[in-house]
Amino acid sequence: MEKREQMYEGKAKKVFATDDDSLCIVSYKDDATAFNGEKRGTIMGKGVINNRLTNRLMRLLMDNGIPTHFVEELSERDTLVRRVSIVPLEVIIRNISAGSFAKRYGVEEGIVFARPTIEFSYKNDELGDPLMNSYHALALGLATEEEIDTIKAYSFKINELLKAFLLEHGIELVDFKLEFGRLPDGTIVLADEISPDTCRFWDVETHEKLDKDRFRRDLGGVEDAYQEVMRRIIGD
Ligand code: UDP
Repeated sequence: MEKREQMYEGKAKKVFATDDDSLCIVSYKDDATAFNGEKRGTIMGKGVINNRLTNRLMRLLMDNGIPTHFVEELSERDTLVRRVSIVPLEVIIRNISAGSFAKRYGVEEGIVFARPTIEFSYKNDELGDPLMNSYHALALGLATEEEIDTIKAYSFKINELLKAFLLEHGIELVDFKLEFGRLPDGTIVLADEISPDTCRFWDVETHEKLDKDRFRRDLGGVEDAYQEVMRRIIGD
């Protein structure tokens, strides 16, 4: 597979074309941003960790019936994926109150929900990814009703699979963000990444934060937290 021109550069990843139109290469960077790009920094080694962790978790999901864009890990930072058109919705699943949920509803972090919640935000940096319900998404033609039903069903199943798997490794899955894409035939598949950048991971015993909140909130030990998640899930 030949890596060709860069198609896109995002905050944490670059995407390259390949000699096959249906495939592209995602390359994970160490760059970190928070608060819609206002806070910037570098988390040394993050790209390698997020690439490997994402692929491990994508494999787990595929083994359990969730279609994803994952094809093959090419190197430490590079992964071959199926080319999709991204549905411009960020899907957030929560098991425990934290972050913007705690702030919006004026509650403390750490409330364990009886049932997980789902919310969407419109993937639009200029607008700061505003919260959106499925009726709004339909009204704007961002996805069809059938696609939204599929995305919801996959997201809750992904939550159950990830929660159980992570718990076996001493990690509590607080909340996370997913993105889905459409293959050329319209099939919905999971895309993007699943990493400490996009999930809140707490130590199951101490509730210590093992994710990007250490960077967002200047808690220190950012690299160590990413390393620790990697060690628990993959070894090394
Ligand atoms: N999240 C993300 N990208 C975003 C917004 C949120 O990956 O643009 C993840 C975030 O890491 C957390 C979950 O989605 O695991 C819920 O985030 P929240 O809505 O609480 O927003 P935050 O507090 O991160 O601004």
